[in-house]
Amino acid sequence: MNIILLGPPGAGKGTQAARLVAERGMAQLSTGDMLRAAVKAGTPVGLQAKAVMEAGELVSDAIVSALIGERLDKADTAEGVIFDGYPRTAAQADALDLLLLERGRALDWVIELEVDEAALIERVVGRYTCANCGAGYHDRFKSPVVVGTCDACGAHAFKRRPDDNAETVGTRMAEYRAKTAPILPIYEARGLVRRVDGMADMEMVGSAIGAILAERTDRARPGSVSVPARG
Ligand code: AMP
Repeated sequence: MNIILLGPPGAGKGTQAARLVAERGMAQLSTGDMLRAAVKAGTPVGLQAKAVMEAGELVSDAIVSALIGERLDKADTAEGVIFDGYPRTAAQADALDLLLLERGRALDWVIELEVDEAALIERVVGRYTCANCGAGYHDRFKSPVVVGTCDACGAHAFKRRPDDNAETVGTRMAEYRAKTAPILPIYEARGLVRRVDGMADMEMVGSAIGAILAERTDRARPGSVSVPARG
């Protein structure tokens, strides 16, 4: 099962991808996470990407597609992958087709998380994570039970993404509208797109995604030919 989670920043792609990893053993391929790791490690890719990410603009198609290609070759992708934050442009969608074809894989679903943009800014600007285990919190919607202590691991240090500020979020939303939303029709024409209400409660979004994945198991892939049984 190979799926794309599509939606603007703050739509809940990362949260839902993490659930699928935990529940189904799929691998989460987040280009944002890969790029942040590269920036932290100071690799050549990280050095190139840092300023672009801080501005909320898009890193080059060649860089992110190369990262995805390398990641797809790791053994933990055997149970299926969730593309989280990739593809973000038509060129990346084309590159992904090729990367999958070369590996004998195919896309099962493109799941769009539909969200209200005004609410997203508040979601994104207020979010932060535990610096130790990555558990997610929010200034308004989810504080740790004991102030200053992570519920999951007990650590006391938290961090915010440098691009989760009001100004950069505006640019990231604009990039999504201009470059990412236009790739939906490509997948729609192939019958791969399903939509989920991303403003619903996290659990409900998770069950809606689960229901879509269950559907695929019972159905032939689009474009495949089913041969009727003899007799
Ligand atoms: P994300 O964590 O998905 O919100 O990504 C954070 C930032 O990393 C984005 O604002 C972009 O600057 C960069 N980025 C992540 N994925 C991509 C991608 N597929 N194409 C171009 N830039 C990306």
